[in-house]
Amino acid sequence: MRTDHVTYESFTGWIDPPADVQPALEGDLSCRVAVIGGGINGMSTALRLVERGHDVVLLEAEFCGHGASSRNAGQLAGAPGGDIQLLDLLSRKKMPGMMRLAERAAHHVEDFIAKHDIDCEYEATGNAFAAVSRGQMGRVRRVAKIITRAGGHVEVGTAEELGIPRGFVGGMRELVGGRMNPGAFSLGMRRVLLDSSARVFEQTKVTDVTRESGRVVLTTSQGRVRADRVVLATNAFAGEWDITPKHLSVPIYVIEVETEPIDPDRLAALGWTSGMGLVTQHAIMENYRLTPRNTIVFGVRRLERGTSYPLPEKVPDPGLVEELASAFATRFPMLADVAIDRAWGGWIAITSSWLPRAGRMGEDLYYSIACNGHGLAQAPYVGTLIADAIIDGELHEDLQTLWQARPRFPRPMMMSRAGLRTIWAVDRFNDLVNGSRRNARMNG
Ligand SMILES: Cc1cc2nc3c(=O)[nH]c(=O)nc-3n(C[C@H](O)[C@H](O)[C@H](O)COP(=O)(O)OP(=O)(O)OC[C@H]3O[C@@H](n4cnc5c(N)ncnc54)[C@H](O)[C@@H]3O)c2cc1C
Repeated sequence: MRTDHVTYESFTGWIDPPADVQPALEGDLSCRVAVIGGGINGMSTALRLVERGHDVVLLEAEFCGHGASSRNAGQLAGAPGGDIQLLDLLSRKKMPGMMRLAERAAHHVEDFIAKHDIDCEYEATGNAFAAVSRGQMGRVRRVAKIITRAGGHVEVGTAEELGIPRGFVGGMRELVGGRMNPGAFSLGMRRVLLDSSARVFEQTKVTDVTRESGRVVLTTSQGRVRADRVVLATNAFAGEWDITPKHLSVPIYVIEVETEPIDPDRLAALGWTSGMGLVTQHAIMENYRLTPRNTIVFGVRRLERGTSYPLPEKVPDPGLVEELASAFATRFPMLADVAIDRAWGGWIAITSSWLPRAGRMGEDLYYSIACNGHGLAQAPYVGTLIADAIIDGELHEDLQTLWQARPRFPRPMMMSRAGLRTIWAVDRFNDLVNGSRRNARMNG
């Protein structure tokens, strides 16, 4: 695969930044609820609050959609993120709740797209857990059992039965969800927000969160906001202020790349008739998906830990782009001559439980982190439920599944640089063993 003319994007490959970035906050103001962070999570909270007649201010450091929300692979999942076998082992009682939440979250996003007529190329294809080896296929079957037992809707099949490329052994199809252009989705949600009565300040980074005279005060470089309630929706950028939760998550940088446009006949020859997005069953997954521009977007395979705040603006490491290119050539040998056109990346938040988190510090400060690399569906849904919790004073059953009674979080295991390198090395070792077995089978 050719990687000699890759454009390294510092934002995303899906869209250009908006032309109408909103002015920063200047001076002081007061409101009922303030939301910090304008990703799909925070925007959803603000939208629900104004929809229900509340006075809202949203503060976003760059522009709404600047973070992971515009940079992801656009695979709207219908199942929880993370290692489902591990989740089942550690949190079996929570699995039915998590399954219900994951499927409802995907439907919530589909309804939002339809209600606001957002042109984000959404197609309800479902997504598949795709196996690259017999070992991974065994894992897929075990995961399918867990999901089915927890009330989820999936089906297992060979590559041919599922309509996924023949380079994969088979997989498990999530019957709920699909694929979209996440940049267009985020900017579509931003448009709905800017057209609403919410007061939105972009280019406005919150530098401190304190309590004064019974209210929460948000400090920015040119003004302050006093609010009765505050929602922290900063995802991986969750800076730890004195009154916000410690160790909520670990920031991890992940990347996506996109091929050049590929001849439609060559794409058709792959046997990818379902058009489903794919995630492999490595400990650190690879993901692959088709786009309407006849390209394939794929990525992750390696996790890079952020070590200090503020998180840096990064572009992908060319070494990882090379590595992804070589994995692509193994999974899609018929396309091994295709070039990668561009690469980008973004920060996700990984929690120690691998589950999304939501909760409250005191009476007035709510937080909501719905990521672990699966927030495209879950972040808007959880954001909406947080707004309802603020208004109604009670928790929807799906929010109860995530709710943290006490905001005390252990540091995530295996998330040191050495730990992540070890997980990556185990994946590569398994790839090597599977490659040798495949060659042995082909040779006789
Ligand atoms: C490369 C990549 C691929 C992914 N693929 C998928 C996928 O296919 N499917 C899926 O479900 N999920 C995927 N994800 C995860 C998904 O994108 C996220 O879970 C989701 O976008 C999280 O939304 P959010 O609103 O919480 O965070 P973000 O979009 O990151 O928004 C947080 C916002 O807060 C702002 N902010 C932070 N600090 C402050 C501050 N102090 N003051 C003001 N504003 C602040 C930031 O500027 C940012 O705009 C992927 C993520 C990445 C990076």
